[in-house]
Amino acid sequence: MNKLTVNDIELNLTTNPKEKTPDDKLGFGQIFTDHMFVMDWDTKRSWHNPKIVPYGPLAISPALNTLHYGQSIFEGMKAYIANGEPVLFRPEENFKRLNNSADRIALPKLDEEFALTALKKLLQIDKEWIPKSEGTSLYIRPLMFGAEEALGVHPNNKVKFIIMLSPSGSYFKSGLQPNKIFVENEYVRAVRGGFGFAKTAGNYAGSLKGQAKAQKLGYSQSLWLDGVEQKYIEEGGAMNIFFKIDGKFITPELNGSILPGITRDSVIKLLRSLGETVEERKLALTEVYEAYDNGKLEEVFLSGTAAVIAPVGELFDGTKKLEITTEAGEWTTKVYEQLTGIQLGKVEDTFGWVTKVEE
Ligand SMILES: *Cc1c(COP(=O)(O)O)cnc(C)c1O
Repeated sequence: MNKLTVNDIELNLTTNPKEKTPDDKLGFGQIFTDHMFVMDWDTKRSWHNPKIVPYGPLAISPALNTLHYGQSIFEGMKAYIANGEPVLFRPEENFKRLNNSADRIALPKLDEEFALTALKKLLQIDKEWIPKSEGTSLYIRPLMFGAEEALGVHPNNKVKFIIMLSPSGSYFKSGLQPNKIFVENEYVRAVRGGFGFAKTAGNYAGSLKGQAKAQKLGYSQSLWLDGVEQKYIEEGGAMNIFFKIDGKFITPELNGSILPGITRDSVIKLLRSLGETVEERKLALTEVYEAYDNGKLEEVFLSGTAAVIAPVGELFDGTKKLEITTEAGEWTTKVYEQLTGIQLGKVEDTFGWVTKVEE
């Protein structure tokens, strides 16, 4: 198989650019830029036909295998303007994770280097779409799905990979607002041997009902417990979670049913570089309750690309309510400021996490 390069990407650029939405009117994931990257795979030709085309609908057969059996994975990352230049945060990690997800649900792997090259090319073309106001960013959504028209249950023999871009507004309208989290003890998100570690469509489908229940009760997210005993804390559903208990940070270990967040990994590395202790281990909900009762539960925060860091103000499992805080704690704020500072080029990037879009 020939290795694809940037010169293989066919360009078919729009002659009719769209009007851009002002930064203060941006929400999340509703506006898309002028272009998208599309590439096909089939069993004979492997990955082929990479192109950048105007963003728009795809013609899809009702028998599209993935609509029936869910062979679909995605990624979420962001481009920012840092010191006047478009940059990405640890993008290699996203393509590595996409390949891990692909492997788990029998989709073909990408050439990670070429995927990043394609993303950079797309961003160079649509760079005017990267919003510049504080807290805004260009959300990047790589997507891979089985594209075969066939109802048989088998790994798709045709696959599509797409990268779309969506200018997004600030996650927090006014500073770091603490979230209220509902501990989900009826449904589970992932089980041992399943695909909790993969960023698949199916994980999200399975979480929506719990999420809707939490929101109906006035909570912004579910906190998922392990799928076997519903005893150990896993994650927030689209975000990983950290607890500061008695001076130490604790986050659930990557056990196969938790999504290995890149923000999670960055938080761990950052905290350790600052001399803090971070434990990755099993954390029972009862341990958190005990810490709370003993006045040792100091801070709780969520981590994920969308918000970077989100403080947790309240945890409720339907019976016991932990009122943790009404404002972002010291370390929650510090981690948020350090990470966003690195992303925006305001804090020195000693980890080498930031990549320029243009050489
Ligand atoms: C994407 C995702 C996260 C956060 O991962 P980041 O790489 O930090 O954005 C956490 N949990 C789930 C279920 C996710 O899909």
